[in-house]
Amino acid sequence: MEIEHHLDQVMAAQQNFYLRGQTREYGFRVQQLGRLRAAIHAREAQILGALKADLGKPETEGFVGEVGFIYAELGYTLRHLKSWMKPKRVATPLPLLPSSSYVLSEPLGETLIISPWNYPFQLLMAPLIGAMAAGNVAVLKPSELAPRTAAVIQELITATFPAEYVAVVSGGPEVVQAALRRKWDHIFFTGSTPVGRIVAKAAAEHLTPVTLELGGKSPCIVDRETDLDISARRIVWGKFYNAGQTCVAPDYLLVHESVKRPLLERMQHHLREFYGPDPARSEDYARIVSHRHFDRLAAMLDEGEIVVGGQRNRAERYVAPTICAQVPLTARVMQEEIFGPILPVLEYRTLDEAIGIVRQFPKPLALYVFTKNRATRQRLLAELSFGGGCINDTLVHLSNPELPFGGVGLSGVGAYHGQYSFDTFSHRKSIVRGTFLVDLKLRYQPYKGKLKWLRMIFK
Ligand code: NAD
Repeated sequence: MEIEHHLDQVMAAQQNFYLRGQTREYGFRVQQLGRLRAAIHAREAQILGALKADLGKPETEGFVGEVGFIYAELGYTLRHLKSWMKPKRVATPLPLLPSSSYVLSEPLGETLIISPWNYPFQLLMAPLIGAMAAGNVAVLKPSELAPRTAAVIQELITATFPAEYVAVVSGGPEVVQAALRRKWDHIFFTGSTPVGRIVAKAAAEHLTPVTLELGGKSPCIVDRETDLDISARRIVWGKFYNAGQTCVAPDYLLVHESVKRPLLERMQHHLREFYGPDPARSEDYARIVSHRHFDRLAAMLDEGEIVVGGQRNRAERYVAPTICAQVPLTARVMQEEIFGPILPVLEYRTLDEAIGIVRQFPKPLALYVFTKNRATRQRLLAELSFGGGCINDTLVHLSNPELPFGGVGLSGVGAYHGQYSFDTFSHRKSIVRGTFLVDLKLRYQPYKGKLKWLRMIFK
């Protein structure tokens, strides 16, 4: 009841503030984005400390994957915002001349942003940048599973913005459910596919547009024609970053049978190089977010033949970087998104076989291909559908703000980053501007004798 009342109050205040029109001004948007940047700068150590406390996130991963990522997104947005906001003139077809046509980007209004726990700072702030840049007001719902980060975010936002502009509501699913009963102008959700479905159903009730940034099983295909050492290093990095709790982490590996052994050998070498002989003692290796997720991963560990890793410690929520081979497609580890430091390795003989395996699953959020062979690359890109990905690398596609980031099918609806965030949080208003200089009678009634002329125009 309390949350219902709180939401009603916040939304009413935001509605009033929005209608006053200040958020539409370029100067206001730039000023507020600058305030956000300064507020993050001032709390950088606290944010990195909270990420360490919630997820054991190494400082470097906290900086590169969260805070630094947001500085880059803010910088990029501030550099381009003026041009994004400009009306876009478009061509006008002959029958409409001498009118002119253009597209205006206008804010949507009241937006709700819901985030998960794995990059709990970045995944709330990046959509917020888009919402603010596009001139909206916003309510943020951080993940309750990263409570220290949620607390820093709450303090940061409350100290920096009036609640009538940007507000935070804290709590778990009950808060999301209360929020979903209300009418928003846009809902931006990042999280799992099942909860994404709950959000989409609730939003449909109000016909609220949604962006859904979801998950899935992202494959990583290693062709026989590749640089095995660099491929192995980049796969190990992308998989075990944040202890595998990355939405675009390679979920499973499909390796050409002829290179499986040397690839596994190189991966074990890089694991030792990255984390030393005992990753539990490495400063550079994160922890599992909760005991529930630890238990889920522990149940997966007992399947397949463990090539390396497998050690775990429930009290510390530690799961060693683990690679398993000989995993059947029916194993639990191949039935659901892993979202942890376990990498099943499957082998294939022909590209048809690899494509067949990927197609057994819903369209993934990411796909990675390691190959020097152009035909292989082109075939996989043409025949497999996925949100986005890399050739000869992992994860890094999401750090280019020129690229839209989002899923397809069950891995998501819509996209963001850079201008795509601005567009996601804007409505494109189409305008034809007429003139009084001429007023051709051809379109007006009575139509008698006009159709033959109109037929000549509509070609
Ligand atoms: P989640 O779906 O459990 O939770 C996300 C948010 O929804 C949280 O704020 C949570 O409070 C809320 N929530 C949870 N259960 C709910 C319910 N029953 N009703 C209403 N709200 C509910 O996801 P998670 O465990 O926090 O994150 C992991 C998932 O997120 C993975 O599937 C991962 O792939 C995905 N993910 C996707 C991206 C992306 O950018 N596409 C990024 C990170 C994570």
